[in-house]
Amino acid sequence: MTEPAAETHGFQTEAKKLLQLMINSLYSNREIFLRELISNASDAIDRLRFAALEDESLIAEDPDFRIEIAFDKEAGTVSVIDNGVGMSRDEAIAHLGTIAKSGTEEFLSQLTGDQRKDSALIGQFGVGFYSSFIVAKEVEVLTRRAGESEATRWASAGEEEYTVEAVATAPRGTRVTLHLKPAAQEFADDFRLRSIVRRYSDHIGVPVMMAKADAAAGEADEDKDAKKKEASAEAPELETVNAAKALWTRSRREVKDDEYKEFYKHLSHDFEDPAAWSHNRVEGKLEYTSLLYVPARAPFDLWNRERPRGLKLYVQRVFIMDDADQFLPQYLRFVRGVVDSSDLPLNVSRELLQEDDRVRTIKNALAKRTLTMLDGLPAEDYAKVWDEFGQVLKEGIGEDFANRDALLGLMRFTSTREPEAGQRTALKDYLARAKSAAEPAETEADAEEGKGADEAKDAADSDAKEAGEASEATDATDGSETATKIYYLVADSIDAARQSPHLEVFRKRGIEVLLLTDRIDEWWMSFADEYAGVPFQDVARGELDLDAQDDDAKSSEDAKPEDADEASAPLLERMGKVLEGKVESVRRSTRLTDSPACLVLGEHDMGSQMRRILEATGQAAPETKPHLEINMVHPLIVRLDQEADEDRFADLAAILFDQAALADGNAPKEPGAYVQRINKLLLELLAA
Ligand code: ADP
Ligand code: MG
Repeated sequence: MTEPAAETHGFQTEAKKLLQLMINSLYSNREIFLRELISNASDAIDRLRFAALEDESLIAEDPDFRIEIAFDKEAGTVSVIDNGVGMSRDEAIAHLGTIAKSGTEEFLSQLTGDQRKDSALIGQFGVGFYSSFIVAKEVEVLTRRAGESEATRWASAGEEEYTVEAVATAPRGTRVTLHLKPAAQEFADDFRLRSIVRRYSDHIGVPVMMAKADAAAGEADEDKDAKKKEASAEAPELETVNAAKALWTRSRREVKDDEYKEFYKHLSHDFEDPAAWSHNRVEGKLEYTSLLYVPARAPFDLWNRERPRGLKLYVQRVFIMDDADQFLPQYLRFVRGVVDSSDLPLNVSRELLQEDDRVRTIKNALAKRTLTMLDGLPAEDYAKVWDEFGQVLKEGIGEDFANRDALLGLMRFTSTREPEAGQRTALKDYLARAKSAAEPAETEADAEEGKGADEAKDAADSDAKEAGEASEATDATDGSETATKIYYLVADSIDAARQSPHLEVFRKRGIEVLLLTDRIDEWWMSFADEYAGVPFQDVARGELDLDAQDDDAKSSEDAKPEDADEASAPLLERMGKVLEGKVESVRRSTRLTDSPACLVLGEHDMGSQMRRILEATGQAAPETKPHLEINMVHPLIVRLDQEADEDRFADLAAILFDQAALADGNAPKEPGAYVQRINKLLLELLAA
């Protein structure tokens, strides 16, 4: 067989430019050359593995796939050797001498000369094999394609040109040998190479092997020396350096729970088992695998927005970066895990992740995936997750419009239904109870089928539980109330909420009200319009129209609304005058049964919780005046109506107004004046 002499080829123009640029801009991160070479080796093995599915003879001579890293300190070389698919002579020329990617020209035209920006662009481009020249003064590739007998030697000093020549024999696959630059000799070192391999290629599915550490050790006694010589005459004894087990690439069915838990601990440095995980592979236009974990406990610095968060990013099983926070929304910052993309370039940078449409698509899918995982948890397990992360999930209602319904489904509430201590209700259950309070139980059960069966059961359960409270809820069970609203009340604490005058009519009618006491409740509720078609209603806002739903209830009040309006008009007007400037209006209340008065906000006014948050941050809250609602049948109001002394009337009206604020947990606007008025009354009482 005649062997043609070495041919000299010039690098493609773009390749030349790129090469120079890369050497300059990636210098600070030069160890990545090894990651790139291992990645190529692993790709080559993947490709051969695939080809061997069709033609087993391709791998018959050497069926155990592996990547070997060898080095020679004296010669100053590092080699990455694989028994993958290899390259033919033409392939070596095509793949190593040109940048066979479309858009190279365009890419180069985008370069700015600003090193930082350019290196981000280079990252996007995926320079791969060329990164060898960051550390090597000469690169030599010996390769033989699987199934072919002729081998090729490709060599270049990374300047203008490269040479290609045929070689009689070589093992199947590719051996890339880097002749290190004087300044990069540090890489011809066992420890250094091993730690880079572990750092970047631990979870590559193929074993990455190196000569056993003691076999490589310099000094040894004669015995060992002799053994070493003997061994190296054959082949050095190899050991696997990486874990060689990309857990997320395995099928869900074959990974055991304990393995998932172990991997979570490795990933998160957490000592506890995770609360939940979700492992998925997505195929099609965009291909990626995700393995998401919800920790059992919130980290102590969950509220520190600067805290590192996000997923470990892999591209084709090669580790790219930790804390890639572009793959999950901020409100899911407690989720840990791995995303492994087949489409992103290996050199992708954070900046590029930020702008990438593929990343955005994955982010949306992973957010959905996480919410589905949470939704699928058994109730007791989810209750624990809610305790740890519920407040963070609430942020999502304001941040993630697309998933609002799913998020609302995950919200949990304390309510006036007073379930067992610590128990919380979901909106679905709230609606089921409201519905079952309105309809006979049989029709409900009949209507439920298949997936709805659970809901029917829930409704049945709550019926049973509510039977015990029947005496409290008499008006509700005979009434015709339907779930036309989801009622809620925002307060500073559960105790304060339970004592609020706003709940009086709801208690009387047996209508459940959700009690919200988190700092951000008013904020996120302002983004939640409705759930399952049922609007939310703050019971401390706007006009209450329970009567419109419940004609029977009217009879229990002494007069028809029109008559009542007429009767109360003079008092309302009189109070309005003395409270002018303090209230928007004074009106007859349908909310109160026990209290004389309460304050009601306009539908779109800022509530006191948000007001306080704003004020705490030194911002001015918009000035709004509440409506004062009064209970016409309350003895104090009846007595007030009869008060002839105008000064005394004004004092009493002012006290009622201030007390209504107190009942909501707010200080009177003029606390001193309030105390003086009360003291005046007390004195009169004592003098009498
Ligand atoms: P990429 O890996 O993104 O394709 P690289 O610059 O890393 O880009 O590699 C260029 C091409 O060279 C590869 O696509 C492959 O065809 C070929 N190649 C590089 N290394 C090997 C190898 N070890 N075995 C077989 N082919 C290789
Ligand atoms: Mg590559």
